[in-house]
This record gives sequence, structure tokens and C-alpha cells, in this order.
Amino acid sequence: MAETQTGAHHEFQAEVNRILDIVVNSLYSKREVFLRELISNASDACDRLRYEAQLDDSLMRDDPDLSITVSLDDKNSQITVTDNGIGMSRDELVANLGTIAGSGTAKFAQQLAEAEKEKAKKERSDISMIGQFGVGFYAVFMVAGSVTVTSRKAGSGEAWTWTSDGRTGFDVAQAPADTPRGTAITLDLKKDSKEFADRHRLETIIKTYSGHIGLPVWVAAGGESHQVNEAAALWTRPRSAISEDEYTEFYRHVSHGFDEPWLTLHNRAEGVIAYTNLLFIPTSAPYDLFDPRRQHGVKLYVRKVFITDECEGLIPPWLRFLRGIVDSEDLPLNVSREVLQRNPVVERISRAVVKRVLSELGKKAKKDAESYHTFWETFGAVLKEGVYEDHQRRDTLLPLLRFHSTTRDGWVSLDDYIAAMKEGQDSIYLLIGDRLETMRSNPMLEAFRAKGVEVLLLDHPVDEFWTMSVEGYEEKTLVNVARGDIDLAAIAGDDAGTADKEEEAGDITPLIAMIKLALENKVTDVRESKRLTDSACCLVVDEGEMSMRLQKILQSTGQDAMAGKRILEINPGHALIRSLVERTRSEGSSHQIEDMAHLLLDQALIQEGELPQDPARFAKRMSDTMAKAVAP
Ligand code: ADP
Ligand code: MG
Repeated sequence: MAETQTGAHHEFQAEVNRILDIVVNSLYSKREVFLRELISNASDACDRLRYEAQLDDSLMRDDPDLSITVSLDDKNSQITVTDNGIGMSRDELVANLGTIAGSGTAKFAQQLAEAEKEKAKKERSDISMIGQFGVGFYAVFMVAGSVTVTSRKAGSGEAWTWTSDGRTGFDVAQAPADTPRGTAITLDLKKDSKEFADRHRLETIIKTYSGHIGLPVWVAAGGESHQVNEAAALWTRPRSAISEDEYTEFYRHVSHGFDEPWLTLHNRAEGVIAYTNLLFIPTSAPYDLFDPRRQHGVKLYVRKVFITDECEGLIPPWLRFLRGIVDSEDLPLNVSREVLQRNPVVERISRAVVKRVLSELGKKAKKDAESYHTFWETFGAVLKEGVYEDHQRRDTLLPLLRFHSTTRDGWVSLDDYIAAMKEGQDSIYLLIGDRLETMRSNPMLEAFRAKGVEVLLLDHPVDEFWTMSVEGYEEKTLVNVARGDIDLAAIAGDDAGTADKEEEAGDITPLIAMIKLALENKVTDVRESKRLTDSACCLVVDEGEMSMRLQKILQSTGQDAMAGKRILEINPGHALIRSLVERTRSEGSSHQIEDMAHLLLDQALIQEGELPQDPARFAKRMSDTMAKAVAP
């Protein structure tokens, strides 16, 4: 590494090499998008300068008209994209074009590269994830054998040049001090990419991908130059004048996504507060959907000037999958990003935007259920966070939720559930677990199945949280079937026969007392179950207690979670329990019942996906019992 006063050769960071390889060879299906990526960056650079200039107008004074120029030198097969935006300092050139920001990015790149090695061809959808990390610049190496970036940062007297062949690292050297503000990126086209050294081709590409850019984009070739776009920010144009492709390209520009928007919301509000929103719900989930920072992807503009993409108060975390922009006329331009966090104007816009998004979701759910279900599968778990985080929205959110169920395939809403309720049923029953397949055979469901009562099956960790904060829906209480007392006696069933078995079984009270004694300190109570028909026992928690599952979730995130009080329920109709009841009548049975009590508890734990209290003792008790059963 030849470090001198003015310049140096640098190796690319290891991850960059991997990513370059992916970007150049497999990320994009069309090479022409290199130009889209360069113009997208130039537009961002102008956006950033405009914002900075609100705070310090000396930055732009000498050259106030922002624009982007694509110039062609067809004799030398060179294309240069120039902008007079914010520019980059020496350090920024090195950091932005030679390293990958964010530790998550590097890790992801590594995983992807390893996966690539294993499978000859990785699915494109996985690869396209990498696009979200901001790797667009590297697209130039699809068409260029060498790239020169010359940049002068606004307000700085120094300019720098970055050059690279995209393989052996890059060089940085000082550029003449009279370099104009902004960035010029020159591509030496590879032999197989000479097709792009054509003015018409360039114009077509710009119109196709960059028509939404709010700055003039010029093409200069053969001594002549002219503007090829409308230079009106897409959201300022009337909806009727915008094609679906333009919306899609704008969506990709703001989101770095490779997919199509699932929903596009373009509105202008002219009330007390005037603003425009152009918001998208992506088709596929962004890689960081469950990142603990829960940041949204909506940019805030004030009168077409980009302000920030980190305005927390603008979009609640449970709508963090939204992408796009909000442009307000009622915020001061020189508002600092910090002040925005608690700004009443932002709050009002936020409320209105949330309302609009939820109402659109409601419409979609009604109009096109199938499409809504694909949205639900991708983002439903995030939306559910809103149920416990935003009490005011709860009533709007609940009808948007969808569930699996024990009695039908496909997705079920709470309204669907209520419509199918049995006579005498006044609760909405639900079961929470990890995996649908195992949940379906959970013993807690036995009495429901016997009566033909539907139970909703919830299989996401967030379900533990929101279900605790909701009492009911449409005057029906929400009941977790693994909690408290369940009694289906009042419900008219398909099958009326579970109660009689109990009577045959004789008095169960002495058995319960003996099990309680044996399991002292292990469970808070032992009682007769009304929810079991086939299984001998199960473990439940009381209403308001922390479930075993929630406890596990909290512990897995490093939180201190106290176990809720557990209750062992036994099924008086089960052959084993009936025999045990018989045993309690004979003397000297207490030792055997003690072993059985522990086996019952361990069994119930296993049903919950947990280990027996003492696996070794469990195994011994089990073998002893089995030995007795097979003894001649
Ligand atoms: P992204 O645009 O998603 O951040 P890119 O790979 O396209 O990722 O660009 C990387 C970074 O390089 C940008 O975030 C920006 O900081 C810097 N950059 C690229 N092009 C320019 C430009 N024309 N002017 C100023 N900065 C630029
Ligand atoms: Mg970019």
C-alpha cells in the first residue's frame, strides 16, 4: 500500500469483493440499469446538498441550479455522469465506494457468498436482497473496465479522484482545486458494452428508469446537449399523468427494492395541513424487517427538499414496511432533524397517513382477498405489533388480522370466525404455539374438536403479546384455550357425550389430593379438566399469568422472566385416570400414585415442547412403569 501525501492504493474490503462479484455477475438481469443507479445517486447527492444549503446557504450560492448531465464520448467509448450535488471528501470516497456500511451488511454478504458457492445458482430473490444494502454504485462494473470518480465536496477547497478496475482495489489521488462542486463519474466501457456508447440508447434508458427524477437530466453528445426528462418530482405530478412503470421505478429508487410495489398510495391532502404522500407497501419483505431498531423507510421532504429518512414520529414502527415519501408544505424548511421527532405537524401528518394506510388495507382485504393474504403472509406479524402498541388503532387493526384455524384451510378473519360461531358460544378461542402441525394435535383442542368449535391457531412470537392486551372483539371475549378454566358446556355441540364418562369414573377428589401432594411446589394446582377428551392430562396457566411460551421468548431475549403459575389438569374420562381413581380406594397405593403423578406432569411438559423436570428420573420411572406393564 503506497501511502503518499496526496494519494494511495487501497484494497477493497473483503466483503466488497464478494459483493462486487454478485453485483457484476448475478444481481441485475439487465446491464443498462448501471445508468439508473448512477442517476439515482446523483439525485440523492443533490437532495442532500439542498438540505444542507438550508442551514448554510454559502454551500450552493456559486452554482445554485442543480442538475445531472450524462455525456457521451463515443470515440473513446466513455460515458460520464456529472452532478453538482453534495460531493464527497477524500474519506467519503474511500468509505462510500470501498467499504460496505453496517455490520449486518458484511455478515449478509458473507452468508450469501457462501450460499452461492454451495449452490451453483442461488435464487434471484435472495440475491436481490443485497440490493437493499446500497450497492448500486458497483453496477458500473457490469459495463466499465475502469471507473474514475472525481469529486469536490460542497464547501471544501480540495478535490479528489478515485479510480478502480473493480478487481484490484482502488486508487485515490488529489484532483485540481478548480474541480467544480459535486461528482463526475467516468466509465471506460468494456469491449462487450460498446452498445451503450450510443446517444439514443442512453436517452431511452434514462426515460425508462429515471423519468421520475425531480432534477433536469441532460444528455450531451457530439457537441450538443438537451434535457431528456420533465424534471418534476414524481409525487408533484397528477396521478393520471403517471404510468405504473414510473411508480415502480420511483419505488425502486426510494426503497432499493428489486420487487414491484404491492400497494401504491399517492395522495395530496389540502386541509389544515397540506402534504403529499407517495407511499408503497413492497411485495417482498426487506431484509431488516425484524431489526430491533424497527426503522421505517419513508423519507420526509419539505416543499420538495429532502429533510430526513429518519423521522421517527412520521411512521409508527408497526408500519415500518412502508416505503416512499411524505412532502409537507407546513414545516419550516430549516427545521432541524432533531426537532422533528416531537413536532405537532409531523404528528398530525402521521395520524392521517396511518389512517389512510389502514383504510386502504381494509379495502384491499375486501376487494381482493387473495392478494391481501399475500400481504398478510409477508407483513402480518409486524401489523400485529400495532394492536398492543397503539391502543387507538386497535379497533381498526383487529378486523385486518388473519388467522389459521382448526376447522378450515386458508386465512380466517375475526369476522369470519364470529359468523361461524356455535349456538351458545360467546368467546373467540385461540391457541398459540410454535408450529402449526404440532398445534393441531395439541390436547387442549380436544373438547373443541369434539364439539366442532373452531379454534384460531397463532404461530408467531408476537401473538403472545398482542393477545394479552386485547379483551375481545365485537363483544366476544378472546380466550386463549391454554389459560384459565375452559367450559364448553353451554355450547350446543356436534357431539353431546363428554359429560357422562365422568360419572362412571367415581369420586376423583382423593386422587387429585394425592397428586397435589406428590407434586407440591411443582404446580400450583391440580384439577379436573373440561378441555380434554382423549389425553390424560395437560398443563395450563391461569388467566393473567405469563404463559410458558412467553416466558421462553422473554428468556431467549435475555430478559428475566418468572414462570407463571402452572396448573395440571387431568381428564376424568381417560382410562388411566379412571384406573387411578379406582386405586385410590385401595390401601397402600400412594407410592405408585406418586410416580404416576410425576409421569403425568412430565408428559404434560413434553406436550408443551419442554423437557421433563428431571429427565433421568423421568426415564427411570418410565422404564419401571413399562416393565410392570409387560411383566407376565
Ligand atoms: P446507496 O445509494 O444505496 O447508498 P450506492 O452504492 O449507490 O448505495 O452508493 C454508495 C454511496 O456512495 C452513497 O450512499 C453515497 O454516499 C455515495 N455516492 C455515490 N454516488 C454519489 C454522488 N454522485 N455524489 C455523492 N455521493 C455519492
Ligand atoms: Mg444508490
